[in-house]
Amino acid sequence: MHQRSLFFITSDYKLSEFLYFDLTFFCDSFESVSPEILKEIRGYQDVADKIIDEVLNGKFKGHTYDDLADFVDNFGNRIAGSVALENAIDYLGDRMRDIGFDNVHTENVTSPKWVRGFEEAVMLKPWRKTISVLGLAMSISTPEEGITGEVIVVQDFEDLHARVRDATNKILVFNAPFDNPENAIKYRQRGAIEGAKINASAVLVRSYATYSLATPHTGLMFYDGDVQKIPAGEISIEDAELLYRLQKKGQKPIVHIKLRSNFESDIITRNTIGDMVGTTKPHEFVLISGHADSYDVGQGALDDGYGVIVSIKAVELLKALKLKPKRTIRTILWTAEEVGEVPFGAAQYLEKHLEELRNNYTMFLESDSGIHNVHGLIFNGTAQAQCIMQEVLQLLAPINATKLYSHFPRLKTDIVPLMQATGVSGALPATDADKYFWAHHSAADTMTFLNPRDLDICLAMCSVLSYVLGDISIMLPRAVVL
Ligand SMILES: [Zn+2]
Repeated sequence: MHQRSLFFITSDYKLSEFLYFDLTFFCDSFESVSPEILKEIRGYQDVADKIIDEVLNGKFKGHTYDDLADFVDNFGNRIAGSVALENAIDYLGDRMRDIGFDNVHTENVTSPKWVRGFEEAVMLKPWRKTISVLGLAMSISTPEEGITGEVIVVQDFEDLHARVRDATNKILVFNAPFDNPENAIKYRQRGAIEGAKINASAVLVRSYATYSLATPHTGLMFYDGDVQKIPAGEISIEDAELLYRLQKKGQKPIVHIKLRSNFESDIITRNTIGDMVGTTKPHEFVLISGHADSYDVGQGALDDGYGVIVSIKAVELLKALKLKPKRTIRTILWTAEEVGEVPFGAAQYLEKHLEELRNNYTMFLESDSGIHNVHGLIFNGTAQAQCIMQEVLQLLAPINATKLYSHFPRLKTDIVPLMQATGVSGALPATDADKYFWAHHSAADTMTFLNPRDLDICLAMCSVLSYVLGDISIMLPRAVVL
């Protein structure tokens, strides 16, 4: 068995591979995991069955969906700096206290505040059509009167650099298909930088999405200090393709856009922390987490309301079953994940608690990778840690969540900076990633997109994993941080 180089084994891979084909980890030998540990893991099957049964057939059945609906229907979406987010954080802390978490408290986090204003886009020529648009977070505004100009549509950066030298007074449209999440995101993140270099007046990016019913998506974009800032938004896949087809037929579409927004001074928001204190090893931890903030469209149910509710309910479930592991299960509901180049809540928690995170944690689990068809874990750890986890996942056979995937996506999640700084293993639920990108960061991120069964499976998995990793005699081996 070879030791895998840690932290983001990447290669060029296609969406189908991102959807986990060929990336399943197989432990080719158990020689690094002792027979006693394997036996100990298998000894947890009765507990795992009990947890799973309580979720699928007992009192918890369907509750996670109902609790999530209570949460997101009450507060709506929750972008950093919004009153809704701070009210939601108060509510989540109260829920944790009601359930009987120990040491429930919040820690302050500094975050920028960006507020969406009025937005519109209209194709004026060759015929009139409303274009579905959402400004990208951190984009500057268009002038009050908007921007009107001819569009230039390109397929990708290569196409741009090959074809377009000067886009003065033109609106640049990127119509890059979603081939895989790590590649497609660069048009959203860097489109305005590349557009500014050729003097485009604004940039419209085909939504970072795998499916569309004319819904535009949003997300974070970046500027580069060396080039001018130009406004940027995402348009629906349908509108991007329409503009592309028109251009191919020799038309020169004219589009008018208005994207208004405000930056306000940095604000204070809060991470929420609560423990189920371990019986005999209270200073060792398993982390379960999700982020309380969301984008300012839809309900933030998928991204990431479900993650916070599951991370609370996993403990509620263990308490209901009177299951108390030896280690402490720490639930952290991160804040300000969405609006920063780094997830602010997690990064600022890391600064304050680096030593504890490095020395006292066995694993960081975050639920922020979609919820449809949870069928295992995306896991990053040493080869030995992977072998142990693969065996632990066999406890989830009754819910078909036994697959371990060793490709950890190079995308922004709260636990990534923690893993990079500490070498502690990290995990996300493995789901139908394709479906995640149907709704994420769009008005379609609502309760209607989710279903109770998926949430139940995720809850069962998180409860079993947090209990077993919290109780087993060993901590997962950690990687050496380079
Ligand atoms: Zn998220």
